[in-house]
Amino acid sequence: MLCGAEWLILYLYKSFDYMVDVHTSQQRSYNMSRIKSKNTRPELIIKDSLEKRGFLYQLDIYGKPDFINFNKKLVIFIDGCFWHKCPRCFKLPKTNRKFWKDKIKENARRDKEITLNYKNSGWKVLRFWEHEIKNQEIYKLKFA
Ligand SMILES: [Zn+2]
Repeated sequence: MLCGAEWLILYLYKSFDYMVDVHTSQQRSYNMSRIKSKNTRPELIIKDSLEKRGFLYQLDIYGKPDFINFNKKLVIFIDGCFWHKCPRCFKLPKTNRKFWKDKIKENARRDKEITLNYKNSGWKVLRFWEHEIKNQEIYKLKFA
């Protein structure tokens, strides 16, 4: 079964002739047991796969996307679950609550603004949550 976010991603990919491999939970736990990626930044998990397909990694350009492909006019962001307020994982720290609340709110506002500005300039934008990459919910990006 695919969750809402996965359907959305699948839909987005289909609309640019991309496919996403979504593993069954059995395959997923098998993969997770094999990959000791505790300290691996999530974007590194898919870096090789994307670089082979013409994406450049973390260029210093507007919005600092994790991956960009100029030919396809496509940017990909891997959003950290804490810093970007993931609805599944985010928990407000117990101390300095006001500080964190304002900071995270501002990050989320900026994410929306960046997405909108790319879209308004004719770019396509994909955003993944850190947990979707780390949990191998999206294991591999397949390009049709
Ligand atoms: Zn998350």
